[in-house]
Amino acid sequence: MGEFDLITRYFKRPAARASLGVGDDCALLQPAPGMQLAISSDMLVEGRHFLSTVEPFKLGHKALAVNLSDLAACGARPLAFTLALALPRADAAWLEPFSRGLLALADAHGCELIGGDTTQGPLNICITVFGEVPQGQALLRSGAKAGDDIYVSGTLGDARLALEVFRGTLSLPAALFEAARARMEQPTPRVALGLALRGIASAAIDVSDGLLGDLGHVLQASGVGARIDTAIAINLIAASTHSTWAQARIDSEQQLDCVLAGGDDYELAFTAPASARAAVRAAAQQSQTQITRIGQIEAAPGLRLMDADGQPIERRYASFDHFA
Ligand code: ADP
Ligand code: MG
Repeated sequence: MGEFDLITRYFKRPAARASLGVGDDCALLQPAPGMQLAISSDMLVEGRHFLSTVEPFKLGHKALAVNLSDLAACGARPLAFTLALALPRADAAWLEPFSRGLLALADAHGCELIGGDTTQGPLNICITVFGEVPQGQALLRSGAKAGDDIYVSGTLGDARLALEVFRGTLSLPAALFEAARARMEQPTPRVALGLALRGIASAAIDVSDGLLGDLGHVLQASGVGARIDTAIAINLIAASTHSTWAQARIDSEQQLDCVLAGGDDYELAFTAPASARAAVRAAAQQSQTQITRIGQIEAAPGLRLMDADGQPIERRYASFDHFA
């Protein structure tokens, strides 16, 4: 199978939304009047962003999911994407499930594959997504204000748990491992929530590197600080996981580690004024996404973690001081 054969067989489909899709030197996109294009790229490198053992179907899903997550964080509607792919060899047994996983998620979001590049080399997947957002309405990292509430969508920490099992530092009951593994390998981009939060959220980011680190970007871009209620935040771990913490002998420090600094969750962290609580709840309902209010933006810079008694947790997370 040659390069062009491969592209035609696995990646070329009739253009629907794009003016011109795969097959020419450029694809053509026509943004609607009054819309801005939102553009983001994410590269997945074997060994760094995924394990060589991951099933290609799931890898196809994840490669696009992490990109859609960036559009979600900006409140942008997915339009199209390009795929730059380096492959060790043209292996149908890999390409078929990979493209199926990729295009299934693409179809679910009406996001069209409009072009790319294909070359021989160590497995590397780079996707660029294009979305649209009404002029001036994109959710940014820079809009958080003192007094705003801080929210997180869905659950946090399970992807990290799965990673620790793969690393051999932890063992989990089989059912729990499968659930955690699904979170790691097939994240759900919160596109509908991002859209519903336009005009409501003051700032947003997707949680890819861990909540505290990513929230730190919001604080820095907004010139503010925050306090996080860890007694609430710890419940961001999936309920199924929570119920088996004891069984898996995961202590409370490890739990908080997974939730606050786990990474690979692809949930949204966002802020909104307290006066918008009803609107935030409605946005969550409309997008059928669970959200949890975990803290508050404060004028004083730095990230303060509070325990159940409202006392600051100092020692444990000293390494996060660089957000101050
Ligand atoms: P060029 O040489 O002009 O860069 P290529 O020969 O690399 O074009 O690609 C031919 C066509 O196939 C282009 O339209 C390109 O966008 C598309 N294409 C190449 N690789 C992929 C891919 N992995 N997925 C989707 N489209 C691709
Ligand atoms: Mg080319």
